[in-house]
Amino acid sequence: VNSRQSVRDQVAENLRSALVTGRLRPGERYSAPRLAQELGVSATPVREAMLDFVRLGWVEVEANAGFRVVEPSTRALDDMLELRLLIEVPTMGEIAAACEGETAEAVEALRPLARDLVAAAEEGDLVRYVTDDIDFHAGFLDLHGNARLTEFVSELRGSSRLFGLSALAAAGNLVETTREHERMIDLALARDREGMEALVRRHLGHTRGIWAVGGR
Ligand SMILES: [Zn+2]
Repeated sequence: VNSRQSVRDQVAENLRSALVTGRLRPGERYSAPRLAQELGVSATPVREAMLDFVRLGWVEVEANAGFRVVEPSTRALDDMLELRLLIEVPTMGEIAAACEGETAEAVEALRPLARDLVAAAEEGDLVRYVTDDIDFHAGFLDLHGNARLTEFVSELRGSSRLFGLSALAAAGNLVETTREHERMIDLALARDREGMEALVRRHLGHTRGIWAVGGR
């Protein structure tokens, strides 16, 4: 890994998390030089990352070299949930059905992240919550061994965002929802495919409720 590539990856990761958590706000304009200054990097990796996000439909190019964050519509959120259900419910079921040996160890290794999710929810730290949640689900799905599937789900999630205070206000049951992550680990270790599929279906439904708050 050369250092230029890793700076670029770090910038992309940073901006992705800012978009998903709503720190970069829908409808607002941002310039690459200003974002670069905030991140303490040159404008080039910022511009490269933003152009990737344009391709994904998360931001639009504005006149004068700026970028506008696209606000996800209710329809876009529903479409995203439908795709996540189609992909994640059977995939998580298969991971549970085949959970032994190294896979079981890798599932157990997700437990600290599941516990940190609960801590983040209890502290109302939504930025940490959302980034942990993405890492947890991507890490779990990765155990299926299809990197393109994991990447696709992560891209889908980027098209939804949390909206600061209104989301926080609506997140009263977030702690309870969040306990489902550790239950997913236990169901996988119990090789309970049906239990896992039912839980993932319910969990993604809650997620839609949380994202929905952004619909203004
Ligand atoms: Zn989750």
